[in-house]
Amino acid sequence: MSFLFTTGQTQVCDEADFPDFQFLTGFSERESPSEKLRDLRKICRENPQFSAKNLPEPDTKIGRSDLPLIEFRGKEAGFPLLRVAIFAGIHGDEPEGVHALVRLLQTLDQNPGLAEGYHLFCYPVCNPTGLLQQTRETVSGTDINREFWKNSEEPEVVFLQQEIQRITPHGILALHTDDTSEGFYGYAHGAVLTENLIAPALRAAEEVLPRNRDAFIDGFPAADSVIRKTYPGILSAPPDASPKPFEIILETPAKPPAFLKEAALVLATQTILAEYRKLIAFADNI
Ligand SMILES: [Zn+2]
Repeated sequence: MSFLFTTGQTQVCDEADFPDFQFLTGFSERESPSEKLRDLRKICRENPQFSAKNLPEPDTKIGRSDLPLIEFRGKEAGFPLLRVAIFAGIHGDEPEGVHALVRLLQTLDQNPGLAEGYHLFCYPVCNPTGLLQQTRETVSGTDINREFWKNSEEPEVVFLQQEIQRITPHGILALHTDDTSEGFYGYAHGAVLTENLIAPALRAAEEVLPRNRDAFIDGFPAADSVIRKTYPGILSAPPDASPKPFEIILETPAKPPAFLKEAALVLATQTILAEYRKLIAFADNI
């Protein structure tokens, strides 16, 4: 199966060109959110390193309260487990992040060492009604990614804020799609070491997708495919969080074929986990 997509220059891309990533093929665009999560239900039942909350029943129409949390508890790696929260599907018309986070969890089921040293809190469907109706906004017409830490009454925002306060994560990752970008890029904020995580993550994603090297991305100044300013009210740690977690948003372009978008997001996420663990282990040994 061949795909044609534009990456600055038009090129033909075939799944056979990426043999290492063929495991990422096979998602159907028609799958409902609850169908996507069916595999995760099975993993959580069978693998004691996983647990799930709020997973909707298969084939049911999901509602605003079906905002699933999948936890993965890795083996300890010489320091207390690092808590990282990963969010996807905040915009309901960006299914790439949802697929990628499901893929990441499926990968960890097979290869748990990839997240050794971590307690991951994964929210693959942060906007269940938006995903169902394929809209950026929730069923109430709200872009919830402009509502954080503003006393919002949107139930998704209230729930996710409570979760972030409960977990007090060392790191926050959000997976998005930008249909105005021709290349992959990221947003870095929070802890100083964020810089040491996003650069290798973007290099990993570049194995499968071109990077956006524009001087301005989404209206913000960019350097090396990274923006450091973004809109107020995006999903983040509370403004008064101390110490500040690392905060990274990964943005895949919309045009490439689904399996490459998912591969880029999964590779970048795995790289962030590997690099952060290295930094913590190094700091621990000083
Ligand atoms: Zn988005």
